[in-house]
Amino acid sequence: MSEQKFTELIEEMSNNDIKYDEKKLVKAWELTKLAHVGQVRFSGEPYYEHPLEVATILASWKLDEDSIIAGLLHDTIEDGGAKSEDLVREFGENVAHLVDGVSKVATIRWKKDAQAQFVENLRKMLLFMARDIRVVIIKLADRLHNMRTLWAVPAAKRPRIAMETLEIYAPLAERLGMGEVSGELNDLSFQYLYPEEYKNLVRESKPYYKAAEEHIKKMQHSLLRFLADEGIKAKINGRAKRFYSLWKKLARNEIAGDFTKIHDIVALRIIVDSVTSCYAALGIVHGHFKPVPHIGISDFIAQPKPNGYQSIHTKVFGPGGRIVEVQIRTRVMHEQAEYGVAAHWAYTQAKAAGTSDKILESKGVKVEETKLNWVKQLVEWQKELTDSKEFLEAVKFDAFRERNFVFSPKGDVYDLPAESTPVDFAFAVHTDLPEYIQSAKVNGRMVPLNYKLKSGDVVEIIKSKNKKPLNRDWSRFVVTSMAKRRINKQLRKGE
Ligand code: MN
Repeated sequence: MSEQKFTELIEEMSNNDIKYDEKKLVKAWELTKLAHVGQVRFSGEPYYEHPLEVATILASWKLDEDSIIAGLLHDTIEDGGAKSEDLVREFGENVAHLVDGVSKVATIRWKKDAQAQFVENLRKMLLFMARDIRVVIIKLADRLHNMRTLWAVPAAKRPRIAMETLEIYAPLAERLGMGEVSGELNDLSFQYLYPEEYKNLVRESKPYYKAAEEHIKKMQHSLLRFLADEGIKAKINGRAKRFYSLWKKLARNEIAGDFTKIHDIVALRIIVDSVTSCYAALGIVHGHFKPVPHIGISDFIAQPKPNGYQSIHTKVFGPGGRIVEVQIRTRVMHEQAEYGVAAHWAYTQAKAAGTSDKILESKGVKVEETKLNWVKQLVEWQKELTDSKEFLEAVKFDAFRERNFVFSPKGDVYDLPAESTPVDFAFAVHTDLPEYIQSAKVNGRMVPLNYKLKSGDVVEIIKSKNKKPLNRDWSRFVVTSMAKRRINKQLRKGE
């Protein structure tokens, strides 16, 4: 059974054009089984079925071989007694680093009574993300499979896991633009956290889903013809709204539980080849179905959402005057909307052929630069977290407010306290670096050494040829204890 699934994993990788060395994968699979020998999941399955499923999810997201191997091995350190050194020797630094990261992130727990610790953990997670986004993507695949199999876990343990998922992992997936994943995580959490509400909603919404689907089918046929008449190749389908998202929408003041006020319970989705076709398709839609006044069109292609989501949304009067939401996007935008960062990552990695605007944009962009852009987005998110009340009402994000994420020109991230300067940065980068400080650049511009760094700054230390003693004046502006300590030590020695 498991061997069959392992074969399917290899097939999935081939189908998704992921490069791999079969021997290496087999070796990883053998080690996974060995590390978890005798361990059983609550479902009664051998434990190693779980990492195999995680690896398969990662392959379906088109991640690279290292991530997939790390997916197989992700619990071997934590639960299987494997050592990081062994992983380095057998599979290389990259895989070992990923497994190590996933094991460390594993300690993040949602506890109502331990907010400070939770925030600290979340901050740790952000740092891991900044260093290598794949760590968090593997963690999400892990959580997704654990949620899919939560039914087997003893009932008393389910709410905590579901709460953690709803509060941390689903918003994280959402922020990473992985809409499909966050949607599934939300729905899975919903049914364990609010079982009564879930059951009622499923029952009550059924006729509305059905009616909307039938309505959309009618529109679908005519629209396909209108588009074809204009020479636009398109795929059209209905997108049913997720239960959790429907539940939250019904709770809004202006909706007040009225299903008839929800126009996107099933939306009509048009997928075309190019951005130009998106706008052409919009024109054709509006030519045949009048747009609803005042609700308006949202053009997330011209102005993507902060998480990168792109699509055009419009509401029109369908047959019989019924309001229908129409979403128009390219195939690439569609994949990115479903798998977000994972899809984007796969694209850059594969340096895929120039089939889309997004790819054209990213063509010729070095991986380093992409990484830097990504961490910059992360900083934005961190700011949002600090301001956002809705993300976690209960949690205070002061820990974020007082920290700065700054970057080396290569994209390595450093977590420094507020008011830190390029000198503090130098101390954080390397013990010897402060003795070679000549000057500093922030975001490409020369700055004084007492410059106050801000989150998102890229800091570059220009080195002198020769080693110099630490400058005593620095003690007046450095804020990190390490910098203070070393400067003072030298001052004392000098006296
Ligand atoms: Mn796991």
